[in-house]
Amino acid sequence: MPAKPKTSATKAKPASKTKPVKAGEAPSSKPGKSFDYQALLHRAREQVPPEVYERPRFAIPKVSAFIQGPRTVIRNFKEITDTLRREPRHLIRFLSRELATAGEMRGRQAIFNGRFNTRALDELVARYTKEFVLCPICNGPDTDMKREERLLVLVCSGCGGRTPLKVI
Ligand SMILES: [Zn+2]
Repeated sequence: MPAKPKTSATKAKPASKTKPVKAGEAPSSKPGKSFDYQALLHRAREQVPPEVYERPRFAIPKVSAFIQGPRTVIRNFKEITDTLRREPRHLIRFLSRELATAGEMRGRQAIFNGRFNTRALDELVARYTKEFVLCPICNGPDTDMKREERLLVLVCSGCGGRTPLKVI
């Protein structure tokens, strides 16, 4: 009966001797690891809710404008501020400052004194989006502009980030 633990002890020795041999075969364990990674990736993909793929990509709307006498009319102004989810007044103020002119809302349109080309307006709307809409932390567009005391803060519902904004 006491011989049994002795034999198991001697059996353990050859087992430890085979270990260095296994270590020499280490490269063969690499494909196994990458397979696990692929499986993990596949599983992670399955867990992503479908609405993430179905949601349309955020795109800055293109300005549609025309010249009316000495003024420039942005035809789709309300559409732009709806997409950016910002107050039309705020974008009017930004554009008026950048164009060094006066502007106002008229229905769903915005009218600015002076003649401005669409490309310049597009560039300004893109700059406005970068400055007042997109979260600088995650670059996501799901943000709100909130006034907190005297500060204007960009609150991101995507990453929860809070970024102070320039008051204009
Ligand atoms: Zn964010």
